[in-house]
Amino acid sequence: MQVELITIGDELLLGFTIDTNAAHISRTLAGAGVEIVRRTTVGDEPGKIASAVREALDRTGAVITTGGLGPTSDDLTKPAIAKIFGRRMKLDEGIASALEQRWRSRFPNSNYPATNRTQAEIPEGARILTNRHGTAPGIWLEDEKGRWVAMIPGVPREMRGMLAEEVLPAIKSRSEGTESVVLSGTLRTTGIAESAIAELLGPNFLGEPGTELGSLPLAFLPGVAGVDLRVTAKGLPRAQAEKLIKKAILKLRSRVSAYAYGEDDADLAAVVLEKLRSLGLKLAVAESCTGGMLGERITSVPGSSDVFLGGIIAYHNDVKVKALGVRAEDIERYGAVSEQVALQMASGVRERMAADVGVSVTGIAGPGGGTPDKPVGLVWISVHGSDAKARRFQVGGDRAEIRQRAAQAALEMVRRALSNG
Ligand code: AMP
Ligand code: MG
Repeated sequence: MQVELITIGDELLLGFTIDTNAAHISRTLAGAGVEIVRRTTVGDEPGKIASAVREALDRTGAVITTGGLGPTSDDLTKPAIAKIFGRRMKLDEGIASALEQRWRSRFPNSNYPATNRTQAEIPEGARILTNRHGTAPGIWLEDEKGRWVAMIPGVPREMRGMLAEEVLPAIKSRSEGTESVVLSGTLRTTGIAESAIAELLGPNFLGEPGTELGSLPLAFLPGVAGVDLRVTAKGLPRAQAEKLIKKAILKLRSRVSAYAYGEDDADLAAVVLEKLRSLGLKLAVAESCTGGMLGERITSVPGSSDVFLGGIIAYHNDVKVKALGVRAEDIERYGAVSEQVALQMASGVRERMAADVGVSVTGIAGPGGGTPDKPVGLVWISVHGSDAKARRFQVGGDRAEIRQRAAQAALEMVRRALSNG
């Protein structure tokens, strides 16, 4: 099934609000095998909203809109779209009193604003999409030819809830059966550059064009976490698409296994924690240039407390010496960003926290502080488990990216140390 998406709001056109709804809806629908074929953004003008929806309906007969359902005067979506379907607006007393009740229980000491009642105005013949996350209900409007528009609020949290609970099930139940789908699978890699991975794979890695696997588009998606390899199958029945994607991912994995840490939304921190857990090992971190980012990555994963002991942000050299036991003369001699210091930071935190594995990061995040010998982006990482290793990395990007890449590289070094015993 092909669907068009229209996001509504002047703030989106002006760039004050980033259109995260569009990205979320596209991803979610693609995950369910539904293809978003076009995205449009329009301002809060009934005429513009109506013409965008009319054109989209003419192309696909299936449209989702977000925004403009609130009680304020800039929220004009419902009447504009009702007009296209030739429906009048009607006050739904059930919704009106539910809204009023909700208001009065939350703000018992203030007057109920009459503008709220406009949220209870529904086009005739519309289906209500329940909003369990806010006040404005969504609307599903459909004509006798089966062409439909689903209107949901712009507030991202409400939009996400209603998409999952109301819109997606409705779309899925329509597209069941023989319909073809669009499906993607992602293999996540890190520690290898995009060009290097392309060379490793060579041309037509999945197969000659025209063959079953060879006809799947393969995308290289570089980011601070590494390079994602994404294969997409379009226009196939679901079962066949799933089988092909699985096969393609397996084939990719066989070639890049050293760099692959997971599939789809996999998070390297979660992968590392799972490995530590299965081996019954505890982890501690010593961070300089990442300033706690590594600890943040790890503790973002639910359940990390049974594996992660804690860490020390050893930013100043005195802290490296006093809290981690790094030798002051080694800092003097080799510099804070050096193999020797990284090794002592990792073994220091491992010992002081009685951990099985200690990992350390020390680097030059920039923009200042680089020298010809030690340029910005130089990072030393050490992992001390059954033995101690240190590795030099030269990472690119601005300060924020260098720090994110350093944290990711540290996690990857732990993952590899655990994989190699
Ligand atoms: P609305 O439903 O139009 O009243 O929008 C309510 C709020 O949701 C706006 O103030 C924005 O902050 C946010 N919002 C609306 N549309 C989007 C969108 N496409 N992406 C992200 N946030 C949005
Ligand atoms: Mg709005």
